[in-house]
Order: sequence, then C-alpha cells, then structure tokens
Amino acid sequence: MARPTQARLNLDALRHNVKLAQSLAPQSRLMAVVKANAYGHGALAMASALEPYSDAMAVACIEEALELRESGIKAPLLLLEGPFEPAELAVAAANNFWLMIDNERQLKWLEQARLTAALHCWLKIDTGMHRLGFAPQRCAELFHHLSNMPQHRGSPVLCTHFASADEVDPRGTEQQLACFASACAGLKAERSAANSPGLLAWPQSHYEWVRPGYMLWGNSPFGSRSQVNADQLRPVMTLESAIISLRDVPSGSAVGYGGSWVAQRPSRIATVAIGYGDGYPRNAMNGTPVLVKGQRAALAGRVSMDMITVDVSDIDAVNIGDPVTLWGEGLPIAEVAEHAATIGYELLTRMPLRTPRVVT
Ligand code: PLP
Repeated sequence: MARPTQARLNLDALRHNVKLAQSLAPQSRLMAVVKANAYGHGALAMASALEPYSDAMAVACIEEALELRESGIKAPLLLLEGPFEPAELAVAAANNFWLMIDNERQLKWLEQARLTAALHCWLKIDTGMHRLGFAPQRCAELFHHLSNMPQHRGSPVLCTHFASADEVDPRGTEQQLACFASACAGLKAERSAANSPGLLAWPQSHYEWVRPGYMLWGNSPFGSRSQVNADQLRPVMTLESAIISLRDVPSGSAVGYGGSWVAQRPSRIATVAIGYGDGYPRNAMNGTPVLVKGQRAALAGRVSMDMITVDVSDIDAVNIGDPVTLWGEGLPIAEVAEHAATIGYELLTRMPLRTPRVVT
C-alpha cells in the first residue's frame, strides 16, 4: 500500500465557492487570486477550474504569471506586487499581464519604457495599510497621468487593500473605505478594494472589481468566528492520512519527542503517517483536533517530520489503516491553525510539494 498521505482537492467545492463569490457581488467583476501556487492548492489545476468564472486572475509576480500563461491560462493576469525590474514590462506587454503600480520607481519604468504594445495597469492607493501604494492625495493626478501615457492602455483601475476587514472592530475598514471614496471622488474610474473578508462582510467595498483569494479555497477568513456568508463556504482541500501503528500505554507514559504529552490514564495511541515534512504544523499543540474515522480525537505528543501521535482512547474499534483527516471536510483549518498559533493562509501556502495533491 502507498503512503496514505494526500491533499484531496474537491473542484465541486471550488466551483461552489466561486459561484458564492459571484452571487454576493453580482455587479462586480471577479479577479481570482491564485498567487503562491493558488495558496498551496496547485496553481494550474485551480486556475484552470476558476478561469470560466473569472474576469481576470491575480498572482504575486511575473514568474507565477508566466507559469500560468505557458500552461495555457488565457485570462488577464495582474501582478499584485507590480514589476520588480524594468525588463518585466516588455514581457508583461507581450503576455497581457496587468501591472500593479504602487511606487514612484515603477512609474518611472513605465514612463521610460519602449513597448510594442501598451500595458494596462492598476494604481494602488495606500488608504491605511501602510505597506504599498501612493498617498490618497495623489490619486487624481496619477490617474490622469497614467490615462494619458502612451505606454498605458485605457484608464488604470484604482485599487486599495484592507488591513483588518476580517476583524471584529469595524473602525479600521470604515476609515479605509472613507479614505478610498474621497481619493476616487470625481474620477471616472473602475475601483477595487474587496479581498475575501471585504467580499463576504463589506458589500459597500465591492465596487467594479472584487479580488477574493482565501475564500475560494472554502475557508473562512474570520477564523472560527461564525459569519453568515462565510458559513456557506466548502473546503476545497482535505488533508488526509491513515493510522500506521497502534499501541496501548499505561498511565504515566510519555509520548513522542521530548515526552511533551504524558498519559493521564491507560491510553490507546495511534500513529498517523503525516508530519511537518508534509505541511502539518510542527507547533500544533497537544490537544489539536484530528478526525479518526470521522470522529474527533486529539494530538498527543510533538509532531515529527513524518508522523503524529493521536490519543484514540475514546474511539471504538480503531484499526491500522483507519482514515484520519487533519483539516478540510468536517474539520475547519482555522481550528487547527489556532492550535498552532497561526492562520489557515499560512498552513495552506507552506504545504510542501512532497504532499500529493489529488484532484477529485
Ligand atoms: N488583493 C491583494 C492585493 C492581496 O495581497 C490579497 C492577498 O493577500 C488578496 C487580494 C486576496 O486576499 P484574500 O486571500 O484574503 O481574499
């Protein structure tokens, strides 16, 4: 039998999630964010499935865009971090890549470029995240400048990014929305602000373009906090393995590296063929939930490179070969992430190549 560890990818769930995104923002065009290998899911498989539902897609950088284009993806591809060097502009023009212009250096490269075809750009406005983008006071001037530049095709889409649309406190997002509205006031421009939490919880942020990433993979950006729209999402990735060893240990037995878990009663310990070498977080704490045959059990002992140990004392008739779910269907990734002091975004994007992705 082959090693049972795999990330099963459910394309029906993906289609359900993207249709949910469309239905929540019916007036907006949809840009599917598939950067970082589609958040670990596999860029080409996910982009191919999303292409019929997307008006454009977004990646972080030109290498990611070229990989998709060379594999047959035809949709316009926005480089979210913009060009890193002037040589990228000609490649972008030849491949219908759109550029995010977020700083003066990039603007200069565009002004000085001699291109065979004009480029389409998005203009990033810093409304409060203070990471990338121009000051809101410069929005109108730069919008006109780009619109009139021979190297530029059409008018730029005005874009901003939320710092805390997933948080309970609405004030930061309200301030960013007000700042963006006043920066764009009076301009005949398409606008884009909504990431997944914006799309799900801030309808006033939808504008002409929405840019969901994380929600497409069926996970809630609000973590384990219930939210009416996010509760309808269906996880695309289910990370699975199986039990490869079982033992009964007496009370007082320490399990795993460092003996960090000690049996408080006679216990049944199942060893499962997955570890941090497969993308399961090394810092998941004792008590992190897993599903054994669909029933909840808890991590007992430190995560090894290729294995974990689970306390299955309360589950009946456990056998070698029984299936184990680490996250996905039946176990939201947010719960696992919280036990590992991180977020689902990170668990997904650092999933190594070693873990087979199996599309269903
Ligand atoms: N837009 C930009 C500029 C981003 O950097 C990201 C992701 O980080 C997104 C959209 C998508 O965000 P999310 O995955 O929360 O939907």
